[in-house]
Amino acid sequence: MKIMKIISRGLSDTGRKRDHNEDSFLIDEELSLFVVADGMGGHAGGGTASRLAVETIATIMRESWAQEDSPLREDCPIQASRIPSLLRQAVQAACCNIYMASRENPHLAGMGTTTVVLLIHGQHAFFAHVGDSRIYLVRDDFVQQVTEDHSLVNEQLRAGMITAEEALKSRYKNIITRSVGFERSVEVDVMGLVCEPGDTFILCSDGMSNLVHEDDILELAAKGDLDAVTSALVALANERGGDDNITVVAARAL
Ligand code: CA
Repeated sequence: MKIMKIISRGLSDTGRKRDHNEDSFLIDEELSLFVVADGMGGHAGGGTASRLAVETIATIMRESWAQEDSPLREDCPIQASRIPSLLRQAVQAACCNIYMASRENPHLAGMGTTTVVLLIHGQHAFFAHVGDSRIYLVRDDFVQQVTEDHSLVNEQLRAGMITAEEALKSRYKNIITRSVGFERSVEVDVMGLVCEPGDTFILCSDGMSNLVHEDDILELAAKGDLDAVTSALVALANERGGDDNITVVAARAL
């Protein structure tokens, strides 16, 4: 198995309008595992949900890694990999943990979180996601969103009910159609692709993607070290209003 060297950085900022940060992120360099979660739900709910998501996914993946027959120790074609189903299982476990915690504590009732996960294994990048946090791939001179938002606005857009321009301004922009932990289980989208040296992946919450667009990401993420990339993306979202918590995780294959 050809191992690519992966470098990474993460940065989370409360933004300019909120008084606390309900986003969480995880960087596990040993596993090349990266997660961003954007929690929602009153009182302590949002922050608790996103933290539980990140912690549960980290635990499940580390437990798998500790086993000899782990999918994380296999070298096989992308189509045969068991990693997508492991990622799906990890997000499901997070969903169940958050749901159970919300049932046990009335202050946490109704909490949930978006979740995006990137795992780089050998030559392959695998993704799992729920909600409207995003993963972008920057390769050479193009940028592509590799996750598809589970949001009302995206459904309206796909159905041809609104235009892309209307979608950006929609007052329903914050309504997501899937959430980790709001119900006992959730449908998780998973996919994979073959990585190339130089690929940069950007995981972010909507506090970034609502204000920083693909051309900005291409300009800021393609070059420079990842400290500069994450700082510049967060700074640009703040410059443009910073109306929500902003979280950016960048991972680059060398
Ligand atoms: Ca948000």
